[in-house]
Amino acid sequence: MDNNNTNVKDGADKVAGRDQVQEAAKNLFDDFAKTAKVGEQQLAQATTNPVAAPRTLDRPTGLVVVPPYLLREMANRNPNNKSFAETLNKTEEMLTPKAAVEPSVVDDQGKIEVYDAKGKEVHPGDKARFEGEPAIGDVEVDNTYDYAKSAREFYKDVLNRNSIDDKGMKMISTVNYGDNYENAFWNGSQMTYGRPGKDSPFKSFVLEDVAGHEVTHGVIEKVSGMIYWGQSGALNEHVADVFGELMQQKRKGITADKADWMIGDGLWKDHIKAADGVSPSGLRNMLNPGTAYNDASVGKDPQPGHMKDYVQTWGDNGGVHYNSGIPNRAFATFAIAVGGNAWEKPGQIWYEALKNAGNNPSFQQFAQHTIDAANKLGYTGEVAKLQKAWEDVGITPSAKALDNITPGAAEKREQLEQLQKDGQKPDHDHDHDHGPVQRGSVPRARKAA
Ligand SMILES: [Zn+2]
Repeated sequence: MDNNNTNVKDGADKVAGRDQVQEAAKNLFDDFAKTAKVGEQQLAQATTNPVAAPRTLDRPTGLVVVPPYLLREMANRNPNNKSFAETLNKTEEMLTPKAAVEPSVVDDQGKIEVYDAKGKEVHPGDKARFEGEPAIGDVEVDNTYDYAKSAREFYKDVLNRNSIDDKGMKMISTVNYGDNYENAFWNGSQMTYGRPGKDSPFKSFVLEDVAGHEVTHGVIEKVSGMIYWGQSGALNEHVADVFGELMQQKRKGITADKADWMIGDGLWKDHIKAADGVSPSGLRNMLNPGTAYNDASVGKDPQPGHMKDYVQTWGDNGGVHYNSGIPNRAFATFAIAVGGNAWEKPGQIWYEALKNAGNNPSFQQFAQHTIDAANKLGYTGEVAKLQKAWEDVGITPSAKALDNITPGAAEKREQLEQLQKDGQKPDHDHDHDHGPVQRGSVPRARKAA
């Protein structure tokens, strides 16, 4: 992984203008295409060179829980278990931008519907448990129901938001999706949880903060439409982590200083430990990025927690699941400095910042939006703590920040704007969006077959 990042970094250092970035991207792609072979070899190549093909548009169709880089590590380290490579292929396909738009299902009340795919790759599957029905005794179904409810209540009680779209969009989930399907995802209109294989190191994808994270991707899409690439994409990931974690902290009644700040705690089977070798593992640690897991069978959590370790890569949509660690750490340290319940002042500040951030904020600009939000909400006593939390991760809040520094960010924005110009069908539930034009900037729905 380090090699790849270094390669990309070297490439990125040489380019300055847009044409040069495109040229560099093309060269990287050509190199990849030349050496790639079918089957195992192709996977091996993709594994050692995640640069692969630069994305051409900003419309992936699904937002996944387990990032491609982790599946790649697992496929590489466990060549006998084909389910990792297969899920990787499906995940990459899902992250490949598509233009189709699936309208959301609105019922005005955010009603919960849980379906069971029973090991097939179908949506939504058989009815399992709907709003108001009692528990059915299936732990995956009942937990899914409870977490959807927790997410809906969090948005209503804490942020005064009526479900995902603020218009009562139904909360639809499918469990037991696929056979050895090693991931969970938000496809723009519903949540889907795969069923880990028998030999998988994953225990379950039905986790409260994971559910909250994915639902929040839907909220972000509606509120600001942050482009899923580079820094705005990492902020998209970051905000999804923030509210996913906060809804878990709120339901459990845990204050900021007592929280574990772990996204996906309970994701791994018990033999996979955190980086210290003893603590429980997870997928990402917001307070201490890079420490969530470390095991010979799955690799080590690669997230940076400071701008000095910022990951430049064409993989992972420009490092969205890597660099989200940086703002994650700023949020967690700020919430601890404020004290008490993180979903109160810090959560309110982040939601207000999200509303004003637009679709392509840099880290610096988003940081400035949080400071503006704190002032606007009357939390002026917290501004110095906020400033310090950002500076401690190497970010100086600034409205006039440099543009999104990730290679390709400018192209992504242009392509997005072109896509919108080319007549993306407006979907009717966008009337109340905040900020400038954002439709379609974030992965959204194409109903999986
Ligand atoms: Zn995500």
